[in-house]
Amino acid sequence: MGKYQPQRGTYDAYGGFLNCFNIVLNVLSEMAKQYNYKEIITPIYESTDLFIRSSGEGSDVVRKEMFSFKDRGDRDISLRPEMTAGVIRSVVSNKLYANADLPLKLFYKGPAFRYERPSKGRYRQFNQFGVETIGVTSYLSDVEVICLGYRSLQELGLLDVKLKINTLGNQASRERYNQALKDYFQDKIESMCEDCKTRFNVNILRILDCKVEEDQKIIKECPKLDDYLDDESKEYFRKVLEMLDQLNIPYEVDNTLVRGLDYYSGVVFEYHYSSPEGVNLGAVGAGGHYPNLVSEIGGPSLECVGFAFGIERLVTLLEDIIPETYKEPDLSVFIGHIGKEAIEHSLLLADYLRENYIDVDLTFDDKSLSSQIKLANKKNARLFIVVGEDEMKNYVYQVKDLSQKTQMAVSYCDLVDYIMEKLSPSINDESEDFENDED
Ligand code: AMP
Repeated sequence: MGKYQPQRGTYDAYGGFLNCFNIVLNVLSEMAKQYNYKEIITPIYESTDLFIRSSGEGSDVVRKEMFSFKDRGDRDISLRPEMTAGVIRSVVSNKLYANADLPLKLFYKGPAFRYERPSKGRYRQFNQFGVETIGVTSYLSDVEVICLGYRSLQELGLLDVKLKINTLGNQASRERYNQALKDYFQDKIESMCEDCKTRFNVNILRILDCKVEEDQKIIKECPKLDDYLDDESKEYFRKVLEMLDQLNIPYEVDNTLVRGLDYYSGVVFEYHYSSPEGVNLGAVGAGGHYPNLVSEIGGPSLECVGFAFGIERLVTLLEDIIPETYKEPDLSVFIGHIGKEAIEHSLLLADYLRENYIDVDLTFDDKSLSSQIKLANKKNARLFIVVGEDEMKNYVYQVKDLSQKTQMAVSYCDLVDYIMEKLSPSINDESEDFENDED
């Protein structure tokens, strides 16, 4: 077991998990590039104040979940609980909006930190992938972001995505709704949970997120956001939904969806997915429109829209749904030697093949050919090349296909082409059987 274990809510990534993790990040990055999003990397820690400003004092993230500390220079620092704040801070610090055609389209990936109670799909250090469109001038940017998230999940093989969508309305609508909520909860808040009491004062909308059963009964009867939306907000939302229809993206309007972070207003959405056993990990991704964050942290008035996916949740789903992604890739070639003298030649041959982008492994211990074939099978090698006295003299090698149990003599100059062809999905096989081969 060793003396030290990973800290609560953290984990070590390797093997099949890491392979799947990397597949997810590659697919998401490639998809974002197709939509012309450019990558941005920002620091893992920022000033605590930035997160209070962006997520909001009343958000759970700020009140209960931040990893905050003072650095040696007595600065208040926090590990990022999400990435949007850092990305927008960077856009403002570097004036990225000034020399770019707006909207600016950025994507990011990396770890985020929240002091939450760990459970399946919930960690204290987890990874997010997300996009931000900065400088939105049309409802179509909202649609494009929602579409990118949806299509990315499909590309990963997650075909049964549930997209939940809602609008929080524009600022004016939200203010009127907040007032209606204040009036409604005024004489009920004393009997509600401590979290709700805090939310009543700092961000009343978040009361709708409360999971306490007794509070739920009160919340059920509260004014509905829908009744407080003005025509402009309704029209914007209608156009977004209509465009999603045209794109054949199914959705479910969920009036209770309010999102945990303060900066959203306008369209908000979540992607949900249930695993085959019906386990719901919560949202695999979420996002929305946020009009004021850039100006609140000192930049110009630019509206934005974005989403973030939780990578671990996507990996957990893929492990269930497409188990092939959750294993290490096969090895292409294992080079086996006959006799000590062939080991150096084998390494030279490996170097040549690796230079040609073929992955190769071999052993430097002098083992029998049959135990090397066993080793190659253990490493899931596709092909096995034999290097013996004749091969070193003639530069013609026996190449065995370990799954098809066939073999073929191939000269050095044809070797790369032959291997490439063997490894490509459609193989036209003319080699002989080696079932009874002996070493
Ligand atoms: P949020 O920033 O809260 O909207 O989160 C965006 C996505 O990140 C969620 O939909 C989850 O998939 C993922 N996520 C959030 N918190 C955690 C966590 N503690 N552990 C793992 N994934 C998380």
